[in-house]
Amino acid sequence: MKGTRVYLLSEARGLSRDLLGGKGFGLVEMVWAGLPVPPALIVTTEACRLFLREGAVPGLQEEVRAKMAALEGLVGKRFGKGEGNTPPLLVSVRSGAPVSMPGMMDTILNLGLTLEGVESLARASGNPRFAWDTFRRLLAMYGEVVLRERAEVFEGLLSAVKEKRGVQSDAELTAEDLEALSFLYLRHLEERGTPFPLDPWLQLEGAIEAVFRSWSNPRAKAYRRIYGIPEDLGTAVVVQAMVYGNLGEDSGTGVGFTRNPATGEKGLYGEYLRNAQGEDVVAGIRTPEPLSRLREYAPELYREIERVADLLERHFRDMQDFEFTVERGRLYLLQTRSGKRTAQAAVRIAVEMAEEGLISKEEAVLRVEANALPGLLKPAVDRNKAPEPILKGLPASPGAAVGHVVFSNQGAERYTAQGLPTILVRPETTPEDITGMYLSQGILTARGGLTSHAAVVARGLGVPAVVGAEGLRVAPEEGRAWVDGLEIREGDLLTLDGSTGEVFLGAVPLAEAAGEELLQKLLSWAEPHRSLGVRANADTPSDAERARAFGAEGIGLCRTEHMFFQEERLPWVRRLILARTPEEEAEALERLYAFQKEDFKAILRAMDGLPVTVRLLDPPLHEFLPPLEELREKAIAGDEEAKALWERAKALSEQNPMLGFRGIRLLLLRPGIFRMQLKALLEATKELREEGFDPRPEVMIPLVADPKEAEQARALAEELFQEYGPIPFGTMMETPRAALLASEIAPLVDFFSFGTNDLTQMAFGLSRDDAGKFLPQYVEEGLFPFDPTERLDEKGVGRLIRMAVEEGRRANPRLKVGLCGEHGGEARSVAFVAELLDYTSASPFRVLTARLAAAQAGLRSRKYANT
Ligand code: PEP
Ligand code: MG
Repeated sequence: MKGTRVYLLSEARGLSRDLLGGKGFGLVEMVWAGLPVPPALIVTTEACRLFLREGAVPGLQEEVRAKMAALEGLVGKRFGKGEGNTPPLLVSVRSGAPVSMPGMMDTILNLGLTLEGVESLARASGNPRFAWDTFRRLLAMYGEVVLRERAEVFEGLLSAVKEKRGVQSDAELTAEDLEALSFLYLRHLEERGTPFPLDPWLQLEGAIEAVFRSWSNPRAKAYRRIYGIPEDLGTAVVVQAMVYGNLGEDSGTGVGFTRNPATGEKGLYGEYLRNAQGEDVVAGIRTPEPLSRLREYAPELYREIERVADLLERHFRDMQDFEFTVERGRLYLLQTRSGKRTAQAAVRIAVEMAEEGLISKEEAVLRVEANALPGLLKPAVDRNKAPEPILKGLPASPGAAVGHVVFSNQGAERYTAQGLPTILVRPETTPEDITGMYLSQGILTARGGLTSHAAVVARGLGVPAVVGAEGLRVAPEEGRAWVDGLEIREGDLLTLDGSTGEVFLGAVPLAEAAGEELLQKLLSWAEPHRSLGVRANADTPSDAERARAFGAEGIGLCRTEHMFFQEERLPWVRRLILARTPEEEAEALERLYAFQKEDFKAILRAMDGLPVTVRLLDPPLHEFLPPLEELREKAIAGDEEAKALWERAKALSEQNPMLGFRGIRLLLLRPGIFRMQLKALLEATKELREEGFDPRPEVMIPLVADPKEAEQARALAEELFQEYGPIPFGTMMETPRAALLASEIAPLVDFFSFGTNDLTQMAFGLSRDDAGKFLPQYVEEGLFPFDPTERLDEKGVGRLIRMAVEEGRRANPRLKVGLCGEHGGEARSVAFVAELLDYTSASPFRVLTARLAAAQAGLRSRKYANT
């Protein structure tokens, strides 16, 4: 069916998720599995891409009409036209991207309704109130999504009608009220110059195009940026026959999970709203009841939902998150997808499904998102030190958080810019709040259930959240909230525990998370598939110990400059910088030597038996001096020492210090520092050996750009190796030139370690410290597919790495190769180097990520190798 861009569910089996979108794909599968699904058609992502590119899709409307005719046949109703006692066919129009983006794009319900249709619907349902309610919902949704009127305008008109009638809730409005309201909406849209189309086909055309366009709305873009979803996928559109959950007490709508998305516990879990339409649940506007309540008043329905949940899980072999509607006691499934889950739940579900025999152990290993593992290690509120909570809500996303209260995206941005943690407090959240949710350490809402927007998004982001905290009143526009008599203002400190739902006033101490048994099990299944070594970046014994506990097989980068910044050392570093005579320099170096030796001993001891790569001093010297301005002020005030430092600092200052007198350049021209550091390392090793330990030091030089530098550094090192015996000697590979000359450098060293932070910075010619000013926008505009300082740029930087490894190994077959930039703990970057390098080195909390990602890469490559 070449050229087809619209499919009925029954025609689409076997087509890809990329083409059908996740929602469409799920519906097709459900029909196939024999589940009750209202008939639907799917407009493909290909049509969306074409529309976004060209502004129109020739022939699409004709195709839609042809398939709608088939849909009419399936449900026995005419689109937009009632006949006799048969009401018109109405449809929902929903977005559905290949990757789930909950709530980020637009949806319109009840589409196809006209004034005649309302009459017919009223007759057929015997419920004029329902018919007018359906119409006014359509007008408001269509008005907002397609005609681009603000939602508040419709809400304002609704409030005015309620006020006039002297009622509080929508439910108290009569059919006549809703009819009057519908005409108010119609008139408003007419006067605004954007009349509501009273032709069903025009409605459908407008809705489909609006959904296409919603792919590019700001919140969808922000969501894609945060989750690294490519900009060019486009969304499919699902046009589905409506079923109604608001036809009375035997109707309703709900969301179910086949296992608990917060903890992973097995068993049906979810929420239900009687006599309501789906939007009310997902938007968190009304707090629904737990699904389990159905057991009491509708046991048969509950059993039916359980049966469906079980079928879904067996069919999809994963935890499912499904939306359903009950129309007069009959269950319909509207959507299913693999449920978003916390890292903790992901691990539990994967391990238990493997143990139940639903999936294999290998699949279990592949199921867990490696980048989410650090979230498992989230701290909890320290029970022994916690006061009484001021509030209790629903535990929506685990982990504890302390931060300053903010009420908006802007508030979160302001505090974050000052480096302060925040807790976003909202009545409920909507997709507009995505930036604030992303930036905040915790999220608190007054309304909404465990499947509300706030809860779903928080779990996806791994941000602790408490939702539906009844007793909390929030007035974001006033910058205030209240709990009983207590007023909370922007900037106040709050602590929340997303595992228990408790909220505390002030900053409560947190305790580190306990080790995870299930995670250990999963990793034990993963390990046999990993060939890439995993080390840690650690500069202190405590970091080294933590990394070792997480399974690090050594230290891939110990940055020695951090040791120079400690309080008792800084004066000696400064004397070294100021030294005018060899004696002065020698004295300063002597003192620093003593400190360094102890540092190295402590780290080597913590990593006993495992390799520890010590990198010699990297930053430019002026980083160890106070800021020029401060020195200047003190010097002018007559402080002699400050004056000397000021003079020296001026002489050392550089326009581009990152490209300046640092790294190997400094080490070669001030060889005293080089010798002091290496001798401290070798002496520490010697002493530990005498104490019965098994230290395995390696030494590494930073910022090499030319073989001559490596050669001279090696010669310097050899002088000390003569006395102490050799240890592995390597270079960072962090300048593009070093990568280009890898074949000349490789014979001079025992190992390369790719410093992908600098290598990325220099390959792109962007400053890693300042790029935050434009990189996010670059990604948003689609100029870069992702932020290369976070995830390794395979195309450019990756090419340099691959080339350097291949040429380096050819020139020195015994060369060992590792990576120690921040990318070393990012799952997709690890996957890229998994088969290429000997090891990666990640920050301690990311060691688990690196281990799992490397095993997953091993599994994937072998899977493909066998097919
Ligand atoms: C690097 O450049 O990738 C690196 C590991 O070193 P640093 O971040 O200390 O510059
Ligand atoms: Mg570097």
